Amino acid sequence: MGLERRLEFANSFRNARNGYMPDTDLWPPYPLKDIDPSHSDPALENLKLPEEKLRRERVLKTSEIHLACERAEETNSVLPLIRKAFGEIRQKTSTLAVYFELDELFKRDINGKKLTDFVPFQWGVPCIVNGERAKGIYYIDKPLIKIAEKQPRTRETLESVAQYGVLPPAIQTGMHEMTHAVQFNFGPSKKIPPELVEAQAYRTEQISLARKPHDTLVNDVATSKLYQHLDRRRFDSAVWIIDRFNALGLSQEEIVQRIHNSGEWDEKKGSWTGLEQKLAMDMKRRDLDEEGLEQTVMAYDLNRAIDRHTARIITQGVLREAFKGEIDKRRREDEKWSKGQSVTVYSRSRIPALSS
Ligand SMILES: [Zn+2]
Repeated sequence: MGLERRLEFANSFRNARNGYMPDTDLWPPYPLKDIDPSHSDPALENLKLPEEKLRRERVLKTSEIHLACERAEETNSVLPLIRKAFGEIRQKTSTLAVYFELDELFKRDINGKKLTDFVPFQWGVPCIVNGERAKGIYYIDKPLIKIAEKQPRTRETLESVAQYGVLPPAIQTGMHEMTHAVQFNFGPSKKIPPELVEAQAYRTEQISLARKPHDTLVNDVATSKLYQHLDRRRFDSAVWIIDRFNALGLSQEEIVQRIHNSGEWDEKKGSWTGLEQKLAMDMKRRDLDEEGLEQTVMAYDLNRAIDRHTARIITQGVLREAFKGEIDKRRREDEKWSKGQSVTVYSRSRIPALSS
């Protein structure tokens, strides 16, 4: 199937399955559209129900998460709490592994050196490329990572995971640049098609295909002055195949190895020959046809939404356990306050009677 037909097919599949779209806003719950019964699919239906249920679940209110994180900072317990929550998240989710995996790749030895030793991070510094502001830059030759935003405090990470099940935006940019560091230090050469380099980094940073569908990402990048060196059609092809590799459960390291051996670009088909062969093997192994592949992409996105909710609920649970006394005290005060409010309303309604 040529690229144009592939995109058309993937798009019509996505539109037909709007009903399975996971959350586009994490809180308050975003109502799901009704599923067109002619497109109803048992495999996706089984994922849609837990996603819908989990997105409505919470252990703590926003103000209680804030209170607990404040206390965690005051008592120097942010790091142990993050470790505890992340340990549990790691055990109970599968699609968030990319975060942990990237962290491990960064600490691994390459020729006796770790990336953490020779790729320093600079936070809160201007990042200008082609006269445009960028969120972050990876310098291949120095090597160095610059991030425009200030480094978030660990407490902000804890609060973001508890509230939304995702890392703060500045850390997501950090993940994007770390992906580049891994790409240029883990493979045989520094010659990788730039479209594949960016497609993988963006999809590591972006946690939801429902929030950033294929066409939105491609348009954003194609119209940005930062990426004048990218070819739009090749970028279309790169995002398409990276989304499929991710959905098939490939690790970031496996994807890096593949894009180092992408093979020749086939202009007519709109794909890289080496990647195409690998994808065909993956599909054969999993017994997937084109439709099955698209279904796998949708299922992966729903599973990620489920994992984000799981991460949020786990972290809220860890915070509740650590600061139960104070959270309960705040709840009692809130209850008293809301009862006090209704008393006030009652007595106000009595005023005219009293004054008459
Ligand atoms: Zn990049």
